[in-house]
Amino acid sequence: LTSLGDEARIALDTAAGRAAGLFSPNLRLGVTGLSRAGKTVFITALVHNLIHGGRLPLFDPVRSGRLARAYLEPQPDDSVPRFAYEDHVRALVDERIWPESTRSISQLRLTVEYESASGWNRMFGRGRLHIDIVDYPGEWLLDLPLLGKDFRTFSAEATEQSESAVRSEVARQWRAIADAIDPDADADEAQAETLARAFRAYLAECRAASRSLSTLPPGRFLMPGDMEGSPALTFAPLTRMSDRARSGSMQALMQRRYEAYKSLVVKPFFRAHITRLDRQIVLVDALSAINAGHEAVADLERALTEILTCFRPGRNNPFSALFQRRIDRILVAATKADHLHHESHRRLEAIIDRLVERAVRKASLSGASVNTVAMAAVRATREATVTEDGETLPVVVGTPIDGEKIGDEVFDGNKETAVFPGDLPDDPGKLLEAREGAGQRFVRMRPPRLERTAEGMTLSLPHIRLDKALQFLLGDRLA
Ligand code: GDP
Repeated sequence: LTSLGDEARIALDTAAGRAAGLFSPNLRLGVTGLSRAGKTVFITALVHNLIHGGRLPLFDPVRSGRLARAYLEPQPDDSVPRFAYEDHVRALVDERIWPESTRSISQLRLTVEYESASGWNRMFGRGRLHIDIVDYPGEWLLDLPLLGKDFRTFSAEATEQSESAVRSEVARQWRAIADAIDPDADADEAQAETLARAFRAYLAECRAASRSLSTLPPGRFLMPGDMEGSPALTFAPLTRMSDRARSGSMQALMQRRYEAYKSLVVKPFFRAHITRLDRQIVLVDALSAINAGHEAVADLERALTEILTCFRPGRNNPFSALFQRRIDRILVAATKADHLHHESHRRLEAIIDRLVERAVRKASLSGASVNTVAMAAVRATREATVTEDGETLPVVVGTPIDGEKIGDEVFDGNKETAVFPGDLPDDPGKLLEAREGAGQRFVRMRPPRLERTAEGMTLSLPHIRLDKALQFLLGDRLA
């Protein structure tokens, strides 16, 4: 009886507060993914579609006509930059160029007013939900495992990784510098800088499109945010190490900076941002990894495991005790599905399902419900078929970005072109075994031209299954 009484009281309080306009719950939605996964495009498209009445039939509040209004409000955290929504819309819609990608953390408050689906709640007027969207680089999440590693372990792992087949060649320059460093010699700032620069260049090379590797900590080396050039980033793993670091030695300096990085950069970020999230979407550019080959796919799976581990309050997560809220839903979304004909979407979904299923198992993630989707936040192509030598091929048609290439063919940025993207393997397991990439041909297309109505109103941005993503992430909170 007591608990029934409590529940009824809470329901009444909530309803009364809502009627008086006093109480608007908020939901903190984290948006992450490695660099160029599609975070900026996703947030821009999500907000644009909600504000401008986009076509979202799989999003229940829209389908059932209960979404009354969505609008931006000043974001409540003064210490976090605002997501540059207006600039990004201008780029996408007016200039038809892709907006500037995420380089740091930013935030945006979107407020949604809706009619509740429940008759009881409707008696108290419209519901209102503040959605605080937090955009941050996935690279920063990959730093969490560092908290459990001392400098020696970090160095040993980085050294071992650099000897793998995909990495050894690009690691050569950093290794040449590192291998020549005597860990006992006096600390030398100029040498530290040369070493750190070479290590950063090596990580960047691993990340480049041809290799598309994912697990490359420390995260701020690739995405420094506001820490560019800071001494906390002027360190690197050492390939030679003494049993004890002599005070004043190179090893002692590197070790101290590594520890400073963890305590001054990694911990505050997790504490201030990650532990306050309610929901999370992790965007994954699976197509680029598939294109780069099986090592990139295996690496993506590793990164995904590490990322999901961050959201698991539990033994291996040093932030367990700090979680103010519990993330109860995580969506892993394969982006840029518009590069493929819809006949291949199911295969892309099977691939992402497989990666996530293994990552969830390895991360022993429990308590949160994890879902997957293959989507395009902005659909830059339409579908067609072409007949070649009597064979009908499914193609995608779009306007390639100026200078994009397939083989020797260079595209002009103003002309529509049909591209046959190739087939994804029907068995996702093949991607991890194959020696070569799947041989897809993806051409980056310009954002679509938006149609205008007779009244001159621009229609909302087209997408693929953005509404499905919204339903999973927000639907229940707008019921
Ligand atoms: P971020 O680094 O995660 O913020 O990545 P962005 O959102 O800036 O996306 C990186 C690039 O991926 C963009 O410049 C586009 O070229 C491409 N992209 C992202 N989302 C989509 C999409 O939905 N469709 C298509 N065709 N391309 C996309």
